[in-house]
Parts: sequence; C-alpha cells; structure tokens
Amino acid sequence: DPALGRILSLLNADGGADGGEARVVGGAVRNSLMGLPVSDIDIATTLTPEIVMDRAAAAGIKAVPTGLQHGTVTLVIDGKPFEVTTLRTDVETDGRHAKVAFSTDWKADAERRDLTINALYADAEGEVVDLVGGLADIEARNIRFIGDAARRIAEDHLRILRFFRFFAYYGSGRPDAEGLKACAAARSKLKTLSAERVWSELRKLLGAADPGRALLWMRQMGVLTEILPESEKWGIDAIPSLIATEKALGWTPDPLLRLAAIVPPDAARLEPLAVRLKLSNAEAATLKAWATAAPVNDEMSSASFERLLYRNGADGIMTRLKLALGVARGKAEGDFGEMARSARLTKLLDQATNWTKPQFPLNGGDVISAGIASGPRVGELLAGLENEWVEENFVSDRAALLARLQERVQ
Ligand code: ATP
Ligand code: MG
Repeated sequence: DPALGRILSLLNADGGADGGEARVVGGAVRNSLMGLPVSDIDIATTLTPEIVMDRAAAAGIKAVPTGLQHGTVTLVIDGKPFEVTTLRTDVETDGRHAKVAFSTDWKADAERRDLTINALYADAEGEVVDLVGGLADIEARNIRFIGDAARRIAEDHLRILRFFRFFAYYGSGRPDAEGLKACAAARSKLKTLSAERVWSELRKLLGAADPGRALLWMRQMGVLTEILPESEKWGIDAIPSLIATEKALGWTPDPLLRLAAIVPPDAARLEPLAVRLKLSNAEAATLKAWATAAPVNDEMSSASFERLLYRNGADGIMTRLKLALGVARGKAEGDFGEMARSARLTKLLDQATNWTKPQFPLNGGDVISAGIASGPRVGELLAGLENEWVEENFVSDRAALLARLQERVQ
C-alpha cells in the first residue's frame, strides 16, 4: 500500500530532536498474517499527536484530530483514513474507562492491549514485532488475553465480549481455558457497561461467518444470559442449521437474522430488548416486523402468499421464512417431508425476494371526483375497493376500479 508506505516513512523520518518510530498494529497485522482481508489500518507511534499533526502538515497530508485526548490523529491519503495513535500506558482503570498517559515504550503499549493476536506490530520494513507471544497464537488460532486474564477483564469488562468475538472470527478448537474461566467469573460485570459498547460488540460477533461455537461457549459460561436473557428459554439450537443454510444458499451473514434465531418472536419482549441494547431504529423495526408478521403456512398458494405480502410487507415475512428454512433444512437429510417443506419454503422466499408491492390505482381524490363529499365515507369506500382488489389478486386496473366506484356511488 503506497499510502501506508508514505505515512510510515513520514513518521519514521529521522527528524532530529523529535525522531520517532511508527508501526502498524492490531487488526491489520493480525489479518495480513492470517491471509485475511484488512479493513482499516491502525498505526502506533512514539511521536506525540502534535508532532504527527506538524509532520503531516509539512508533507501536505490531511490530518484530522479525531481523538486527541486518546492521542489519535487520523491521516487521510486519497480519501483513505489511517488512525495514528501515540503509544500509551494505563495509569488508572475502573473497568469502564481507562486513564492513559503517552509513552515511548512499545512493550507497555502492547501489554495494555487485550489479546495477544491483537498486539502485534509491523514496522516500516514489514518486519513483525512480537512482544507478547502473539505470533504463536496466530499460528495456533489461539485466542488468549495478554497477561493475567482476570486482571485484564477487571480493567475493561468489554474484553469478555471481545474474547468471544475474536474467537468467533479467528479461533479454532477451544477458547483458552484461563480466559474462559475469567470471563465466566466476571460475567455479572457486563451489566455495568454502556449499551452502545455491548451491542456494538455483540453485533460484530453475530456477524461472524459462523458465530455458532462462540455462542455455545458464551451460553455455557453464563455470559450470553447476562447480556441476552431473552435467549435463555429459546436457546441457540437453531444456529447451526441456520448457518449451514446461509452457506448453502449464499446469504450474507446478517447479525439480526442470527439474533432472531435465538430470541422469541414476541414483540412484548423484543421491544424492551431493543431499548436496553439501544438498537438502531432500523434494527428495532426489523425485529418488530418479524415478531408481528403473520405466520406463513408453507403450503399456501403463491396467490394467497402474494396477498399476505401485500398486507404484511415482505421484511418480517422473509425473516420468518429464512428461520423456518434453516430449521427445515437442518432436519431434511433422509426426511422427505422436511425436504419437500424446504423446497416449498425456498419457493416462497424467492417469491418474497422478487416481490414489489403493487400500487393500488385509486386514491381519495378519485372518490371525491365521483361525487362523495370529503369525510370518513371516502376512506371507507376506498378501503373496501382496495380490499376487493387484493382479494381478486390485483387484476383490476384503474379503469375497472373507477367503473366499480361509479356503481357504488350511485
Ligand atoms: P477489527 O477492526 O477487525 O474489528 P481490530 O483488532 O482492529 O479489529 P479494534 O476494535 O479496531 O479491533 O481495535 C484496534 C486495536 O486496539 C485492537 O487490535 C487492540 O489491540 C486494541 N483494543 C481495542 N479495544 C480494546 C480493549 N477494549 N482493550 C484492550 N485493547 C483494545
Ligand atoms: Mg480496527
């Protein structure tokens, strides 16, 4: 990446008194070592934020002070952001917020990070610097806290969820035993975290290619119940066949579909959940549409399914169909009934995916033009005609409906 090269040489320039060093850190190093795509590039440096800003200005690079109190400056090259953060050591923590001080100590910077796989650096030459044994853990796909797991969790309880999130994405085998134990012991502290941090981590976890094993461990350790008591009764049994179905049919991972698979379709319980975790309005609406959607009988004709889509909207119905399909496909092997059911559900899902809502060809103005004074009668007439139009499978066009309106009015 030429832009990255430019930034590293700028920050590593032997600039006399303020000569310092910069290295890529965190997710970018981890993912390149694992041969996975890199989303954003974080850079750590011994230079203070002021010097980073000065050098960027001198080189004509756009610098945005995105988090000066945390020592972060974002450098932008060709519209691509690079977060440059001055090395820090923790001075004081209370489990929710950390007080940090700038430093030039690479080891201390590594040791305040959460997991060994997240604390690797790559210098300007591309050489990997491993101060905490992260390389071996990357090889083994071992998700492990740096230092004493219980202490690291006490500094920031969100690390419990990060442990399982990174296990979901990058772990293999079992999660580290000491980490698991420490997460289980501190699980009640999850309640003290802000809703935004919890949902942002959980959303990422649920968006993994296969969050199944991580959810299983979270459930086993009592962590899942702590943040999602709604999943208690329902359980996570639906997840494996849902994931298999998603893979077989090429659906992109959808955190909300996975969430819907582990909580009850009950609007009265989902509304408080959405408030508690501060889901976005769109996310809350998706859950609500699902919970309130009419049940779909997979044997219904495509005409009556079309009427159902018109009256319910497609979103909630599609979530229902996807979940039902996950269950049916999970049972389908050697079971002809479930196989046939899967085929029917797939057909309905295709129909819903390709459906566009037909537009009712009349409006209130038409009724008034036909001689009805504006008032409740207008809406009643219109609704009656619309209902007939739906029942007759949307075949009547505007002219036919206007003629029918004339008959009603006389
Ligand atoms: P991705 O961006 O792919 O989710 P990432 O590793 O870049 O993964 P970020 O959340 O962007 O994760 O954080 C960047 C780095 O900051 C991490 O790799 C880790 O070293 C450190 N870090 C982030 N959050 C914490 C935390 N709560 N405790 C300790 N270190 C953290
Ligand atoms: Mg990142």
